[in-house]
Amino acid sequence: MAPGMELLKGSVDCHVHACPHINGRSLDVLQATREAAAAGMRGIGLMDNFANSSGLAALACRELADLQVDVFGGLIMEPPAGGVSADAVRIALGYGYRPGDGARFISLPTHHTRNIARLERRSPQYVEGCLEIPQRGDLPEPLPEILDLVAAHDVVLNAGHISGPEAVRLVEVARDRGVQRILVPASHMSADEVREITAAGAFAEFSFFAVSHAVQVGLTHVDAEKNVAPGVSLARMHELIQTATPAHTVLSGDCGVYVLPPPVEGLREFLLLIASTGYDADAIRVMVDENPGRLFKVADGARSTDGQIQPASP
Ligand SMILES: [Zn+2]
Repeated sequence: MAPGMELLKGSVDCHVHACPHINGRSLDVLQATREAAAAGMRGIGLMDNFANSSGLAALACRELADLQVDVFGGLIMEPPAGGVSADAVRIALGYGYRPGDGARFISLPTHHTRNIARLERRSPQYVEGCLEIPQRGDLPEPLPEILDLVAAHDVVLNAGHISGPEAVRLVEVARDRGVQRILVPASHMSADEVREITAAGAFAEFSFFAVSHAVQVGLTHVDAEKNVAPGVSLARMHELIQTATPAHTVLSGDCGVYVLPPPVEGLREFLLLIASTGYDADAIRVMVDENPGRLFKVADGARSTDGQIQPASP
């Protein structure tokens, strides 16, 4: 058994890119489910910039039910998936073969945020059409209605790829509107921003992708343009996890792109990297099992979690 495989037992990778993509993927959804099961993982979350992934998740759960991997999906509100639209959110929440199959997360856009569009040096018209969270005043329509839907269905709000200051404001407004489950990709935030969003009850997400070699090359994400995603050093990520504390941290792979190992192997490497910065197996388990398990209401074999989202003790 490769070193680190024991850390994968019971884990949940809430960030797997195995859905079809315009440039292919290292594996498909059913393969990702089988590989997760073989590693003893109990859940995977499918991320897709082009479509609500709940349908593929429901199919994988039904087809591979005997593997007892809870495969879940959700909606990233990118334009090809319907954009920032309350109707698209409503459909995603109800999508599936039976109640409970629907989206378990609703994510703000990733590349169609002004934050990323500016980084990618998109045209002024492109940037203008992208989402930005204002520092004060009302959120742009129809975000208030979408936050209410997320709160009512008690699913995860993912902050997408907005900036640190925008995420701080989003968390504040979302909490005020009753959203209980919030996940913020946090690798590029400042320590103060991480402190603020976790103090407000959100979880900070750190992914293998950001510390991997995938940030060395231009990759296509939502169209034909190749862009180099900004990376972060392992030391910096460690500082930010220390700030968030394991009790408010979620570790994920963000694998599926060709240049990275398939998701299970990517997560194994990532957990070994994180362990090397000083976390023992118990702390790792909190960050990659208990926290994402509670946040996304991941089933534990035959037993369902109670849906409590109090952070586990570190
Ligand atoms: Zn991703």
